[in-house]
Amino acid sequence: MLWYQSIPSWFQNLFPKFIWQIPGQKKTVYLTFDDGPHPEITPWVMDELDKFNLKATFFCVGDNVRKYPETYKTVHTRGHQTGNHTMHHLKGWQTDTELYIQNVENCHDYVDSNLFRPPYGRIKRSQANILRKHYRIIMWTLLACDFEKNLDCHAAITGLKNKTKKGDIVVFHDSVKAEQNLKVLLPQYLQFLNENGFNCALL
Ligand SMILES: [Zn+2]
Repeated sequence: MLWYQSIPSWFQNLFPKFIWQIPGQKKTVYLTFDDGPHPEITPWVMDELDKFNLKATFFCVGDNVRKYPETYKTVHTRGHQTGNHTMHHLKGWQTDTELYIQNVENCHDYVDSNLFRPPYGRIKRSQANILRKHYRIIMWTLLACDFEKNLDCHAAITGLKNKTKKGDIVVFHDSVKAEQNLKVLLPQYLQFLNENGFNCALL
């Protein structure tokens, strides 16, 4: 359901309590990276961001923070922000609510943040209703689809460029699965943002 490159507004309106985009006057987009940290890919992403002096939000899987605490620390020391993406990247629709909440809390032991993004964008209302008391639930408007095998990167980057508008929340993945596509898409996308006068902000 959330695998389209851009999320239509009628769909966003079905879930008005989630944060899909950040309306504002300025030409700002919000870059997010899910599923890290990873000891090689995450620093690579930050190096790319540094080339344009951009800051981003990294939605971390708690178990990866446990494995790579030093990488996680550098995300903060380099001026970026982190959010909770559950301890084990759970699918909300297929997980009992109590277990799901416990898994988010477990991640919170590693990721001290009030931002939460449900893996796959899939979360039950019962889960969201509890988490909303403690977290801002951050969805997205644009998905890079970097995790897709056999992605047509040329079509993907063209689509991203054409659809980008102020206030968008954009998702990439600092994961092994996405690495190959990410390394093609991200440099081109950051260049595009720079050339078109977009700035980036934290959530
Ligand atoms: Zn994820």
